[in-house]
Amino acid sequence: MNIVLFGPPGAGKGTQAILLSKKYNLLHLSTGEILRNEIEKNSNLGKNIKEIVESGKLVSDEIIIKVLNLALDSNEKKEYSGYLFDGFPRNIDQAHLLSNLLQSLKIKLDCIILIDVDESVLLQRILTRKDIEGRSDDNKETLSLRIQLYSRETEPLIEHYSSTHIVKRIDGEGEINEVNQRINRFLECL
Ligand code: ADP
Repeated sequence: MNIVLFGPPGAGKGTQAILLSKKYNLLHLSTGEILRNEIEKNSNLGKNIKEIVESGKLVSDEIIIKVLNLALDSNEKKEYSGYLFDGFPRNIDQAHLLSNLLQSLKIKLDCIILIDVDESVLLQRILTRKDIEGRSDDNKETLSLRIQLYSRETEPLIEHYSSTHIVKRIDGEGEINEVNQRINRFLECL
């Protein structure tokens, strides 16, 4: 099974992605997490992108495709039953990059899951997460830019995929397990 997870910052993509990748044995590819690891390692790439990520802007598509390829190369694909893309694609150019990547991997997307959460809930979640995880891009100022970028660049992709793929909107409010069950119920009917 190959899935793309969409949702605004704070929707719970990362949390649900971890649960789904375990349950369905998927290779979880979170571009945000890969970038944060590079920043943490203080690698050359990490140094170059630190400021961009911390300001809430998007890094270049070239960097995204580079880090995705590195992550794909360093994982034994045979061990997994599919891929879970989390945080990618984020704009129309990246949607084309994904389409090329799928072609070269000789796989197709089974569905796109949109985790839907009201904007008022997002800020509260992000501020709570900042206290727990200490992510330096989790603050009021960058969140508003990240939400803007999401609405402008990423949300239109839902429309883009709707004509060719199964796109499922999942209510992302409520307990983690509740949301997870909503997704599982949908996936089991696929
Ligand atoms: P969230 O969606 O909750 O903001 P992510 O972990 O998906 O969190 O992304 C964190 C940051 O990493 C983004 O604000 C952006 O700077 C960078 N990033 C992640 N994925 C991409 C991507 N596909 N293209 C460009 N930048 C990305």
